[in-house]
Amino acid sequence: MALTIYDSMAREKRVFEPADPDRVTMYVCGPTVYSYAHIGNARSAVAFDLLYRVLRARYGADHVVYARNITDIDDKIIKAAQETGDPIDAITKKFAEIYRADMGALGVIRPDLEPKATGHVGPMISMMERLIEKGAAYAAEGHVLFSVDAYAEYGKLSGADRDEMIAGARVEVAPYKKSPADFVLWKPSKEGEPGWDSPWGRGRPGWHLECSVMIASELGETIDIHGGGQDLRFPHHENEIAQSACAHDGAPLARYWMHNGFLRMGADKMSKSLGNIVLAHDLLKDWHGEVVRWALLSAHYRQPLEWTEELLKQSKKQLDRFYRLLGEIPFTEETGAAPDSIMLALEDDLNTPEAFAGLHELRDIAGQVEGDAKQKAISRLRDAGRLMGFFNEDPVEWKKFGVSIEDRSVLDKKVSEYDEARKNKNYQKSDQLRAEITMEYPVSIETTGGVTNWVFKPKTDSES
Ligand code: AMP
Ligand code: ZN
Repeated sequence: MALTIYDSMAREKRVFEPADPDRVTMYVCGPTVYSYAHIGNARSAVAFDLLYRVLRARYGADHVVYARNITDIDDKIIKAAQETGDPIDAITKKFAEIYRADMGALGVIRPDLEPKATGHVGPMISMMERLIEKGAAYAAEGHVLFSVDAYAEYGKLSGADRDEMIAGARVEVAPYKKSPADFVLWKPSKEGEPGWDSPWGRGRPGWHLECSVMIASELGETIDIHGGGQDLRFPHHENEIAQSACAHDGAPLARYWMHNGFLRMGADKMSKSLGNIVLAHDLLKDWHGEVVRWALLSAHYRQPLEWTEELLKQSKKQLDRFYRLLGEIPFTEETGAAPDSIMLALEDDLNTPEAFAGLHELRDIAGQVEGDAKQKAISRLRDAGRLMGFFNEDPVEWKKFGVSIEDRSVLDKKVSEYDEARKNKNYQKSDQLRAEITMEYPVSIETTGGVTNWVFKPKTDSES
């Protein structure tokens, strides 16, 4: 079966054919590391992680090269350093590590390459020199600007009207721009700001240039898939396309473009500037990463996704049901190939709603058989979920997630006291113990098949 993806440039689903199936290349614009990632940023990382997994399953893990950059030079980072008094490299190192850990908890596989902008300033200077030589860029007052008129196809990706874009840019036109739509490749650094020596003086690169250069250095002039959030189509990706094509004699930057939809809070896009953000880092204290991942993948990646507490609760409930079944076979990290039904759904432009339906179906099948057949069916279900980044937890651990190691042994003791009192029909004592335990710890007490145990219940869960 073919893999089809929605190409934002062609504005239609296209059959994906890599230039070289032995080396499939993808690039996703990564985080600017000056603070914590919010759950909208995580949506982008998780959506493209799923694509990466599907490509690896299809072409072989050794035949896919995924690069996601780290933007470690940016005005927002400089501002954070000024505000906190911490050195820039301490800030970027800290938040890059937190980003990796948080995304790891969400089941995001680490990309093969994580280029840092500060590691590519030399090639950025070379690209600007080339662009100036070709008449696609010019230097002015310590800046280097890209001349939008040099690229006839500017605006093709976003569909933005050229005149409108120019009108939009006109609001605050810097005097050194030849045309209002021209954008900055390089700008001068003030005293005390980080900077690199260049033919145009001491300065630093603009964000758009960084990606074009890292793609060329790490993956090549033309890559298979370029991804990012919908908000990056214009101007960021439009500018990447123009720079790269002009620097590389017209070679297109990417053969397919993919953009994820917004995660919203109510009617608004979740964004730092609106202040309506929920940090992935905070959510992961209360919810298992697979729960958050489930919630993020519950809508198709191109559709908007409304973020609610209810969505998290529902996601946990569903995963709990799957884990109950998974607990019926021995836990192993070994994973087999995913069943066709799941692969087919995901190969249809990452159709996660369809893939989730496939998981439910596999669970129903496992529920209808017994013995060996049941073990096999559960194992198939596990392989299916794992392709999507789920069911990697030991089911025993799953139930206890969120409770510290120290609390676990205390809880074990208290719950067995409770159970004893209950078995002795000392209900006054057992009721009191239950109330104490559930009030003091984020757990509920469950008795299934005659065995009583405690189960983690996020403190955000309302009592039922
Ligand atoms: P930023 O750090 O703002 O450059 O964003 C990192 C990635 O997250 C980019 O691919 C953005 O397009 C994406 N992104 C930012 N906000 C949202 C959102 N609310 N929903 C989905 N993706 C987002
Ligand atoms: Zn980029």
